[in-house]
Amino acid sequence: YLSEHVPQKPRHRLLVLAGPTAVGKGTVVKYIQDQYPEVLISVSATTRAPRPGEVDGVNYLFVTDEEFDRMIERNELLEYATVHGTHRYGTPRTPIDTALKEGRPVMLEIDIQGARQVRKHMPDARLVFLLPPSWDELVARLEGRGTESAEEQARRLETARTELAAQDEFDDLVVNDQVPDAARKVVALMRVSNQGGQA
Ligand code: 5GP
Repeated sequence: YLSEHVPQKPRHRLLVLAGPTAVGKGTVVKYIQDQYPEVLISVSATTRAPRPGEVDGVNYLFVTDEEFDRMIERNELLEYATVHGTHRYGTPRTPIDTALKEGRPVMLEIDIQGARQVRKHMPDARLVFLLPPSWDELVARLEGRGTESAEEQARRLETARTELAAQDEFDDLVVNDQVPDAARKVVALMRVSNQGGQA
């Protein structure tokens, strides 16, 4: 079988990055976007309002509830979930399928419910859980962001506590101590070795 004897370009697998709220997923993703431009980072659809500085089509596709319903009906979402009990978030399917066909590495930054759905639909996906260096550090990061009300912060901390318990379901754990370090580890996990084994 010819292809066994021809050196192949390294292939990439879909990587799902999840982790508790305020663990710094956004910072790691931003770093990967800047330093590893070959990685396609999926842009999610959401029904929540944009935060100051967020751009439609860049940070998220900001959609109405009706538009989100339509995306579900048309089967345009690979997965979707209600996060923090308030707004809906979902991953558009088409850009991911296209990139994977082209052999490009693709990364999703989604919540744990979403990660479980991706696992079901795409068994080859690599599920990576980003951990804070400690619980105190997580609380400090959540308070330091200052974009949410005290009530919303309390709700997110409660979510984080539950989310941390899900780490056992993941293929890999990466501690977000130094961002460049965490980013390098995450990107390395996307590569599939030519031998066809686990990277
Ligand atoms: P934020 O509102 O702070 O931007 O995001 C809140 C949460 O929504 C984060 O935990 C993030 O991982 C999750 N999230 C963002 N996009 C998606 C998505 O497409 N699907 C799912 N399931 N969760 C998402």
